[in-house]
Amino acid sequence: MLNLTIPQTAQVIGANLKHVTQASLTKALVLRKQTGPRLSTDIMLERTRIAIDEWTNKEPSDKKIWLSVRKKDISRGARNFLWRCLHDSYRLGKKWLHLEGFEERASCHECDEFDSLDHILIDCKVPGQEVIWKLTKALWEKTGKQWPDLSLGIVLGCGLANYRIDTNLPDTGLNRLFLVLVSEAAYLIWKIRCEWKIKHEGRLDKRPSAPEVASKWRSAISKRIQFEIIASDTGRFKHKAIPVKLVEQTWGKLLRTENLRGLRMRDITGFLVGIGMDEPP
Ligand SMILES: [Zn+2]
Repeated sequence: MLNLTIPQTAQVIGANLKHVTQASLTKALVLRKQTGPRLSTDIMLERTRIAIDEWTNKEPSDKKIWLSVRKKDISRGARNFLWRCLHDSYRLGKKWLHLEGFEERASCHECDEFDSLDHILIDCKVPGQEVIWKLTKALWEKTGKQWPDLSLGIVLGCGLANYRIDTNLPDTGLNRLFLVLVSEAAYLIWKIRCEWKIKHEGRLDKRPSAPEVASKWRSAISKRIQFEIIASDTGRFKHKAIPVKLVEQTWGKLLRTENLRGLRMRDITGFLVGIGMDEPP
């Protein structure tokens, strides 16, 4: 863990917390002679900590951040993705410049900017992140809760949401819903990106279209809901089943049903088709 509190970090880099970037943090940590393989991981941890502290007024420790991306509520693929993001271990952007013959992979072919996790997950103009976040936000807002000002730090710390119920106890269902929706969305953006960038070599005529992206999102979320409903069957999965109560706390209010187990795939898909329709992608 860095021996640097959030206000100290902001002081070192002379920045408003809201505008802490990869570059400004790198500068701050290098000034503190923090180097070596831990540097990039420390930067990601610090960005996550700052974003979560701003959002929830709770400053998570490194341990809490690591544990939050290992939660079993996150699907295996998304868990691995978030874990690698926190380690900053993906070969992205300038890391390609040192590999002869692959230099063109360093930039986003659409935006003509160096690729990075921020670019792919938050800023890129290629349909993908924008459509998926718009739909995720529309779905989340069905809970009546405000969608946070999304940043890479919030995505990496999606398991650290701090919604509370009236009695001031943690709202387990809402916190879990945020974790599932954001982790699934981020992982889907990543998969769509890899397909375009690696399989289609970033060809502009192979850019994913907005309707394709929206359809992939609906499919991923409906599969996830369906999976949870099936996995909560104690008759079939015994002690390995996801507690029904937890599944109901997570999805019940959103799907506006008390009989979650009675939902069929087409009910779920039908519900998701209506999401974001007032504001088409
Ligand atoms: Zn781009």
